[in-house]
Amino acid sequence: MTDRTGRTSVPGVWAVGNVVDPRAQVIAAAGMGSTAAFAINTDLLHEDVEDAIARHRATPAPA
Ligand SMILES: Cc1cc2nc3c(=O)[nH]c(=O)nc-3n(C[C@H](O)[C@H](O)[C@H](O)COP(=O)(O)OP(=O)(O)OC[C@H]3O[C@@H](n4cnc5c(N)ncnc54)[C@H](O)[C@@H]3O)c2cc1C
Repeated sequence: MTDRTGRTSVPGVWAVGNVVDPRAQVIAAAGMGSTAAFAINTDLLHEDVEDAIARHRATPAPA
């Protein structure tokens, strides 16, 4: 099962195109790919921000 962006219930796994909708023609399958790409990019960005915040919080304040 996928959500509207192609995200599956398995973290880090996305599915779009004919594998989720066998009736999708090229333009629809490509659109789904583009939507997933935006969502994946946003996820990666959030991951980077969370990592940066964690690193910042773990760094002792200068004396
Ligand atoms: C006979 C026919 C005619 C069509 N004519 C049209 C048309 O005129 N216009 C139109 O818009 N659409 C047409 N379509 C539909 C079009 O083919 C699909 O919309 C489009 O290919 C979907 O793209 P996709 O990337 O989802 O899947 P696919 O193009 O099927 O890509 C999936 C890819 O994954 C690969 N793959 C599968 N399993 C694995 C695995 N285990 N590991 C690695 N790779 C794997 C496959 O080899 C394939 O390259 C037609 C389809 C068929 C069958």
